[in-house]
Amino acid sequence: MTDLADARLLEAMRSPLVVEPAASHTCTGGAHSRLADGRIVCWSPPAHEGQTRAVDAEIAAQPVPTHLRRRWRGLWDAHDSFWSAWCATEICAKLGEVPIIVLAARGPVGASPVTIDGREVTYAVRQEGDLVVAYGVSTTTS
Ligand SMILES: [Zn+2]
Repeated sequence: MTDLADARLLEAMRSPLVVEPAASHTCTGGAHSRLADGRIVCWSPPAHEGQTRAVDAEIAAQPVPTHLRRRWRGLWDAHDSFWSAWCATEICAKLGEVPIIVLAARGPVGASPVTIDGREVTYAVRQEGDLVVAYGVSTTTS
């Protein structure tokens, strides 16, 4: 685990999330995640050279789709909940530039940091109101 990546993720997580109806959200600079109920989550911490950020959120109380529950049965024990495991995996898909359908087929990602196709992703998941939110940073080394 790289201490610098952890420190930068924790610093970035101090930037507040904006959660509002997607229809009225007009910014283009933040990292975004759309929710099933029409809201959007926007996270725009200060930028660091060579670092990419992503956010993913789900409504904590929404039901887990049956096919996903079946496919990942017993595989997300290392995470707080199914949605925590899902959001962490979405972050790694976004920052690893791998389609979520490909990454999800391998099961939930392991503990942070995760290396996806040679790219290290540092992530953290926490509850924000009614949402499960995963925050992630990836640093390019080349
Ligand atoms: Zn935004």
